[in-house]
Amino acid sequence: MKVTFYGTRGSCPTPGESTLKYGGNTACVLIESDGGDKLIIDAGTGIRVLGDEMVKNHEDVHLLVSHNHYDHIQGFPFFKPIYQADRNIHIYPSETTPNKPRAIIEQINGSYFPLDEHELRASLHFHSPDWSTQPIKINHFNVYRRTINHPNGGSAYLVEHDGKRVAYVTDNELSPPETPQTSYYEWKEFLLGVDLLIHDGQYIEQDMPLKHGWGHSLINEVVELSETSHIKQVAIYSHDPDRTDDDIDHWQNKIDAMNISSNIFFAKEQQIITI
Ligand SMILES: [Zn+2]
Repeated sequence: MKVTFYGTRGSCPTPGESTLKYGGNTACVLIESDGGDKLIIDAGTGIRVLGDEMVKNHEDVHLLVSHNHYDHIQGFPFFKPIYQADRNIHIYPSETTPNKPRAIIEQINGSYFPLDEHELRASLHFHSPDWSTQPIKINHFNVYRRTINHPNGGSAYLVEHDGKRVAYVTDNELSPPETPQTSYYEWKEFLLGVDLLIHDGQYIEQDMPLKHGWGHSLINEVVELSETSHIKQVAIYSHDPDRTDDDIDHWQNKIDAMNISSNIFFAKEQQIITI
């Protein structure tokens, strides 16, 4: 399998000289199987560039959405395949509070965006499979879902193919102040031994206690989870908008100096991981 990061930033796009290395686009990841199946997770601003690449073919698009906060859907109106006739786009919304499974398309309404959803040319198919009987089959991928610890809810996904497993767990607070939707122990079990974990690491200790309960994890918590769940590779994701390349390099150096067995790195835009 191959994973490409099209957007790594949390909360808000951050163009500029200080974010060139790790990227300024918001959440979007592409997972590809060796056989060519594709699965997109999230439609932050990073999906625009992916769309420019996909526009050259007419294959069906499959998109999983973690939740409807704007940094996870705001790139969708700029995803060129939605303007192509004879294009099928399959969308798998997450469950949120309030539950708005069509939020990604409802933003295209003539107010937030100049067009109305009825002006799109692609055929959009919204899927709400029965997640109680996981895994869900999408192309040749097996997909598992868990509830993230995040304001308004949402979903994490584990994608399995050909004996390899990639988990996408962003906007997830590992130690929230309230009773978690998914406990630390449950995350450990769910993620045990995955080949690549993409996990939110937006915060550092100095952000607390102000941001405790805002639905993101500390970098140090992700490092600990990586070790206790024996995860091979970990991409720290959803970088804080205020975190510069130098700040992230500083944290990478701190992690590199630790005696840990997991390969932990900060996801960079356009980075490709082969597993
Ligand atoms: Zn969020």
